Amino acid sequence: MGIVNVNVIMENKKQINLRKFFARLWSLLKPVHKRFYALLAILVVLESLNLAGPYLLKFIIDEITNFDPEKLSLLIGLSAALFIVYQASSVVDYFADRKIFQIITRVYEHLLSSAHQKLVFLDLGYHEKENTGNKILKVQRGVDRINELIGNFSWDVAPTVLQIFFTTILLFFVDWRFGLIFCFFIPLFMVLTLRLNKKVYPYRRGRFDEEEKASGLMAQSIININTVKSFVQERNELNSYKKIIKRFKSNLWSEFSNILRYNYGRHLVIDTGRILMLLFGIHLAWQGSITIGSLVFVITVTEKAMFSLFRISRLYDRIMESAEPVDRIYQLSQEEPAVKNPKNGIIPKKVKGKIEFRRVSYKYEDSKEKALKDVSLKVLPGCMTAFVGPSGGGKTTLARLIFRHYDPQKGQVLLDGEDLRDYDLYEFRKNISIVPQEVEVFNTSIRDNIAYGNPKASFEEIEAAAKVANAEEFIGKLKKGYDTKVGERGIKLSGGQRQRIGIARAVLADPRILVFDEATSNLDSYSEKLIQEAMDKIRKNRTVIIIAHRLSTIKKADKIVVLEEGQVVEEGSHYQLANKSGGLYKKLTGLQELKDIE
Ligand code: ADP
Repeated sequence: MGIVNVNVIMENKKQINLRKFFARLWSLLKPVHKRFYALLAILVVLESLNLAGPYLLKFIIDEITNFDPEKLSLLIGLSAALFIVYQASSVVDYFADRKIFQIITRVYEHLLSSAHQKLVFLDLGYHEKENTGNKILKVQRGVDRINELIGNFSWDVAPTVLQIFFTTILLFFVDWRFGLIFCFFIPLFMVLTLRLNKKVYPYRRGRFDEEEKASGLMAQSIININTVKSFVQERNELNSYKKIIKRFKSNLWSEFSNILRYNYGRHLVIDTGRILMLLFGIHLAWQGSITIGSLVFVITVTEKAMFSLFRISRLYDRIMESAEPVDRIYQLSQEEPAVKNPKNGIIPKKVKGKIEFRRVSYKYEDSKEKALKDVSLKVLPGCMTAFVGPSGGGKTTLARLIFRHYDPQKGQVLLDGEDLRDYDLYEFRKNISIVPQEVEVFNTSIRDNIAYGNPKASFEEIEAAAKVANAEEFIGKLKKGYDTKVGERGIKLSGGQRQRIGIARAVLADPRILVFDEATSNLDSYSEKLIQEAMDKIRKNRTVIIIAHRLSTIKKADKIVVLEEGQVVEEGSHYQLANKSGGLYKKLTGLQELKDIE
């Protein structure tokens, strides 16, 4: 879903559906709606105070022009009032800034934690669709962009709009013709600004793209410097880089020359407005229709308002920059897990561990063929069942269905006779552990990695689990033992060691059902032996399903299920299947034995 819908509100690169954009943004900002209303109220007070100052100044000037010594106390009083207004404005300004920071910090907290929550709870199918690094980077960038937009709106746009609104009212109040002049020039300025933004946007976008390409290219040539030099490609690398920089320069130049041209136009509009106001004001003052104080007031507030307009110049830019991130985060917020947890699902008290597939079919979203076709099979409690067969046969898919990583499109998976979909998702999963081929390890200590599924486990329990998993053997050799940090993705451990950590983790979780995906390769025979021993220890009293590749493991299973192209082709014990003439199992094991002899 994520990728397909990303550009919904960017209907094409230059057009953007503003209504949809703001509706989505607003819905993402739900927890701060009230704070936004409060901010607006504060800003109304602030902008009124900002106009009250010049209004008081008008009275002071009027009193001075008809100076009368008896009115000295009035003048002092007015000056004191002016001081109070200025101070009040600073105080309100403080509260406005506080509110804005509160909004921004809350938005960070809300968006990041809800994105994390969504990502963690979404099903595996969702995560397989998109690149992990990308997903995380885009969420973080999106949150930054949204907050920049909030800052721009709260500090620049909203105050300017309010200021213009109040100024217009006041100007109409002083003389309607002032209001009219003002109302003519403001929209003109806005139109020019919008056009400038639209015109400059592609150049700015292009500049960013080229910048990204340039840094990518530089990084590539430095990372692969050995190859560059071995093949004497220095000149070529330089030429490619120069070409990008040239395009970067031309975009930058077009951007600036447009800004300069439009700036001239915008200043012309503003200056014409200012002069007309002044001339008309002089005319009125000459006639005696307004006082000098009023003239000064009109000029002060219009100049202030007109120059504030420059503050909202970059709004369009900000909206364009945030369009995609807003859309992405919105899509993520709307995403629902395909695997749903039922209300009042069964909470299993004592799981026996009997699993049954009843005519199960499953097809991955983006593949043509079904991965499982009408599969029926039984896994008996307390026994070890091996899934075997050629790669791509559907073994892993079966294991994932047992854990409800996906739900089958047709048929049922039953645990102790009940459909998995009727169980409480998190409760039944507590009874199952999976040891995958590639055990995922966190960049923490070995101790924390083993205790991942059971963080409250005591050190003795962790040690006991490591012993069962035959992991103690290598942990003991490490300088820091259980406190050794394993590095990102367990880079400091070998494949066999990671798998034994995975087994220890499963042992500690003490599940009724254990699914073990045997490593196909990369294991030295010593690690293999240790892992097999560990498996022998933990299979007692458990239902064990093993996706097996090695004959030595397969032979130990109570039941073997052979899968090919999504179907069960054979079932039985090793003895039964190995003696079935023409069977796939016989063929497969025959190949392996030959290999063993080699
Ligand atoms: P096995 O474990 O036996 O090798 P799998 O269950 O992994 O087989 O795969 C069965 C089929 O499903 C294969 O054709 C494989 O290409 C396909 N498949 C597996 N995982 C995915 C996935 N995440 N998306 C699309 N197709 C998949």
